[in-house]
Amino acid sequence: MKKNIIPAVLLTIMIACNPKHADKDAMIDKKVDSVLSKMTLEEKIGQMNQYSVQWNPTGPVSIRKNDLDDIKHGKVGSMLNCTGIEYATRYQKMAVDSSRLHIPMIFGYDVIHGYKTTFPIPLATACSWDMELIEKGERVSATEAAADGVNWTFAPMVDIAHDARWGRVIEGAGEDPFLGSQIAAARVRGFQGKDLADTNSIVACIKHFAAYGAPEGGRDYNTVDMSERMLREIYLPPYKAAVDAGAGTVMSSFNEISGIPTTSDKWLLTDLLKKEWGFKGFVVSDWGSVGEIINHGVAENREEAAMLSANAGLDMEMESGTYRDYLAILVKSGKVSEHVIDDAVRRILRIKFKLGLFDNPYRFMNPERKKKIIFCKEHLEVARDAARKSIVLLKNDKSLLPLSKKIKSIVVIGPLGESARDMLGNWEASGDPSRVITLVAGLQNNLGNKVKIKYIKGCDVKGNNKAEFPQAIAAARKADVVLLAMGEKASMSGENQSRAFLNIPGVQEDLMKKIVETGKPVVLLLFNGRPLTINWEKENIPAILECWFPGIEAGNAIADVLFGDYNPSAKLVITFPYTVGQVPIYYNHKNSGKPYIKGFQWGSRYNDVTNEPLYCFGYGLSYTHFDYSGITLRDTVISMKDTLQVSVEIKNTGHYEGEEIAQLYIRDLVASVTRPVKELKGFQKIMLKPGESKHVKFAVTENDLRFWNKDMKFVAEPGKFQVFVGTNSQNVKESEFWLK
Ligand code: BGC
Repeated sequence: MKKNIIPAVLLTIMIACNPKHADKDAMIDKKVDSVLSKMTLEEKIGQMNQYSVQWNPTGPVSIRKNDLDDIKHGKVGSMLNCTGIEYATRYQKMAVDSSRLHIPMIFGYDVIHGYKTTFPIPLATACSWDMELIEKGERVSATEAAADGVNWTFAPMVDIAHDARWGRVIEGAGEDPFLGSQIAAARVRGFQGKDLADTNSIVACIKHFAAYGAPEGGRDYNTVDMSERMLREIYLPPYKAAVDAGAGTVMSSFNEISGIPTTSDKWLLTDLLKKEWGFKGFVVSDWGSVGEIINHGVAENREEAAMLSANAGLDMEMESGTYRDYLAILVKSGKVSEHVIDDAVRRILRIKFKLGLFDNPYRFMNPERKKKIIFCKEHLEVARDAARKSIVLLKNDKSLLPLSKKIKSIVVIGPLGESARDMLGNWEASGDPSRVITLVAGLQNNLGNKVKIKYIKGCDVKGNNKAEFPQAIAAARKADVVLLAMGEKASMSGENQSRAFLNIPGVQEDLMKKIVETGKPVVLLLFNGRPLTINWEKENIPAILECWFPGIEAGNAIADVLFGDYNPSAKLVITFPYTVGQVPIYYNHKNSGKPYIKGFQWGSRYNDVTNEPLYCFGYGLSYTHFDYSGITLRDTVISMKDTLQVSVEIKNTGHYEGEEIAQLYIRDLVASVTRPVKELKGFQKIMLKPGESKHVKFAVTENDLRFWNKDMKFVAEPGKFQVFVGTNSQNVKESEFWLK
């Protein structure tokens, strides 16, 4: 790569502030002030402006002519979607060489579940409950993205969701704030590494702040209205955990919360995030969301939208250009103080310094490193491990799985059996379908030519075409085992992909019925980005594997699970409803004044369907069995300073070595405000050999018992609690203790 000359002004700053001699953060702040003091108002506003390159479906990325001029004049602080060394270098050079102060841009991109080496969708990896694995996965993504010129990922998405209709459940970690918080922190650690200045680190962006996962009716972008208690207890904890883990940036969301669009919500962005939580990084809007507050109806025009957002603490604007067009006027008229601008620019420059962009604006871009690491063996291995640890065994009647490798013939039927593109999931970044191991390819890799493998599509994901049904049925009759590859297309979930029905679409279920009628052993491999209402399948198909969208190593990982090379261990992080009419449905609901009791008419219930979910939170089977002893408590009364020691003995009573995710829940029975019937407060993933048992210990402290009480404070209140430990949120052992 051509060596770029570092402009003199940057050299001065670098020499003046030698990090060897002072505390790093203080040094960075000094450097930031030094740059800021040289900036004109226009240049400062430029830092708050972010443009995207334009996509051209038939050719390379392009950029608007005016945007190019803006870059040259120091009026662009960041670009998004400008991936690849060639483009990033070209535009960075423009900013650094042509602008007066030579301030580098920061390049952002949606690295959501892998960069080139595509991982399973985030909802899937969350089901591993494996923080080490999740962190490792994001490390891989950061390493690949950084080598290709990306400095900043718009991830992790940590939005809690109770509604599977919302297409973006695919990007999150499900419904639970405790688990979601740990996953959020693990992802931030993975992306950012030990030091943002490391060549394989990129800065994380927590999104979408806040409560974007609770739109009315599950319709993307729709209104969110919730109490501060719900916000604080359920929706905010993962964002807070990610801030505490050091996430450098936050993205505001498209939605309003209780009447205020988050993009212009001063309470949310400044009072809570920056002051109460002490967030030192910067806040970027979501795509065009500043301009959208006009549609929300809180700003009359773009100028007012810019004013409200800047004053709320929104530091960088993605795409809508209102800061570019109006901030200078607003400062001059006194409607936005220059302190607001300075604070925003300080935050942005701080991240650029932390990333090392001032030291070398091109430092992340390294063609040799890129060539060596993208799709390298180690990365593919992590992706394969992540995929098999994300697959949830939903049903396994008469231990149909694992399949014997001695079978003679397999037929794969279904529209997703050979679809490479769908395996990548919905936000595949720069993923490459041609590198995907499809289901059929994975089976071949695992079994070689010892087993005859036939593939018949049978039908499409959507539509009514049944023309291939007879062929599929005939093939099923001849095979030893039928694998059904059914579900959603990757494009059916994700942004603005809300669904009103949660069934497996098209004629797939009709085909499944015909195949089951053949009487052959049938395994359903489900590919989907959200919980589906698979009642018929649960009743009638003997074995079901929830594969989600498993990423680049899809076929290899599924074959590992099917043939017992890997014993499934994943557990659901989101409730599967029985019917869409039960949605929103989640395990940590309140009891209500009339809880449903079987046979009692006036309990809170439906008169046409059960209250029970199809599969509960925390559910997932293994090829082996785990027996739980009763709960032992070291003490049954603890003070605010004590730790409650909870233990159970778990024994592997089956025939396979396997991992179990033991889960601890609590219930605060009486408090100043109503409490959920169960709240996850601990989990442990343990490996057990057949016949082996282990004592699993959990520690519960006063901190775990806190909630947003009647006085709007996070406290634990004395009283009686239930504690539950078990294999999922429903199948638990139970005991009780008192907090005094
Ligand atoms: C999405 C964000 C994403 C951004 C940039 C928006 O439409 O809501 O999640 O980061 O686009 O691609």
